[in-house]
Amino acid sequence: MTATLLPSVQSTPESMPVVDSSSEFDRYVMDTYARFPIALERGEGCKVWDTNGKEYLDFVAGIATCTLGHAHPAMIKAVTEQIQKLHHVSNLYYLAPQGDLAKWLVQNSCADKAFFCNSGAEANEAAIKLARKYAHTKLGIDDPMILTANASFHGRTLATITATGQPKYQKNFTPLVSGFDYVPYNDIAALETAVAKYKGRLCAIMLEPLQGEGGVRPGDRSYFQRIREICDEHKILLILDEVQVGMGRSGKLWGYENLGIQPDVFTSAKGLGGGIPIGAMLCKSSCDIFVPGDHASTFGGNPFACHVALSVCQTIVDDNLIANARERGQQLKNGLEAIAQKYPDHIETVRGWGLIVGLVIKESSTLTARDIVQGGIEQGLLLVPAGVKVVRFVPPLIVTAAEIDQAIATIDKTLASAK
Ligand SMILES: *Cc1c(COP(=O)(O)O)cnc(C)c1O
Repeated sequence: MTATLLPSVQSTPESMPVVDSSSEFDRYVMDTYARFPIALERGEGCKVWDTNGKEYLDFVAGIATCTLGHAHPAMIKAVTEQIQKLHHVSNLYYLAPQGDLAKWLVQNSCADKAFFCNSGAEANEAAIKLARKYAHTKLGIDDPMILTANASFHGRTLATITATGQPKYQKNFTPLVSGFDYVPYNDIAALETAVAKYKGRLCAIMLEPLQGEGGVRPGDRSYFQRIREICDEHKILLILDEVQVGMGRSGKLWGYENLGIQPDVFTSAKGLGGGIPIGAMLCKSSCDIFVPGDHASTFGGNPFACHVALSVCQTIVDDNLIANARERGQQLKNGLEAIAQKYPDHIETVRGWGLIVGLVIKESSTLTARDIVQGGIEQGLLLVPAGVKVVRFVPPLIVTAAEIDQAIATIDKTLASAK
């Protein structure tokens, strides 16, 4: 080969720096994940392939983010269109794609306004800041409190690990942010006690409609309906974290639609961009109180992420993916319930909404979620734990009936070989 002065566009992979082993990878990348020992390099629809060419059915979908699976034509088109036109210029200017996405979200939810950022944690951080400003300016509270639930998950920034009611995420990171306390999820008596305890200080109750990370635990309708009444009575904001369950995954566009209530504020991220990083915090006009200077994000709402997210939203509608989430979700639940009956020593129950389903392992079983996930990988099925004893199924919303059957058969095989 002749040497060239300009880097070749068609440089072969061999000419680029390649990390060719997990130990070399670990030498350069911080050790923040207990990675499974495969390297994924390509995807199409609900399938991905590793660097050895082995095929996997992807029921993780980038942790409930790849709404349209991998290499979806609508996303390829949107990515290409926008990167050729304008990808990022900052929020110093008006950006039509951001306005278009906000309009779609407002017209398809209970909210009146949207703020954009880049992740779930940032969306929740924005909601927490909004609640604090609401406390100071609307309720006259100097030391506001926010209640969240045990076993919740709201992100990994300091404020959001504080909001997250799981000590394992907080350990070694104290001092935490002040102004948070926790209640058991789905326990109205405990919530009423906490509301009374913090009377005059409480500005918000922040919950997931269904706890995802904390074990795929759906909220009770009666619990959320009573919370709505309490919030109205005390002018407390009800903030719902829709980061994992929103965007059609629950079989409705928003998780709160399963509960028969509307939040004052809600957050979205994971599924919103179909795997392209984007987050959003939405609120009703009654608490639309941010003014210039209050909150910002350099990348938030950039035309690239917003145009791609809008293509995801439109594809969800055009291809009836919410109905698909409901129907394929029911098929998945039925199949897993049959599995639960077949392995009563190991499986406790199956729970979830739409295409977020948890297979709950018995406490008495020696199996952990990680064992089943590891077994699934060997059989060509990707799954993700939600805590120690729950295996989470969150496939792309485009998943087919045949793929659901394949996943169920694979789980059966995995459990059979787990003895
Ligand atoms: C994943 C998740 C988050 C955090 O989102 P990031 O994009 O990882 O910051 C927050 N809340 C819920 C409910 C989540 O599932």
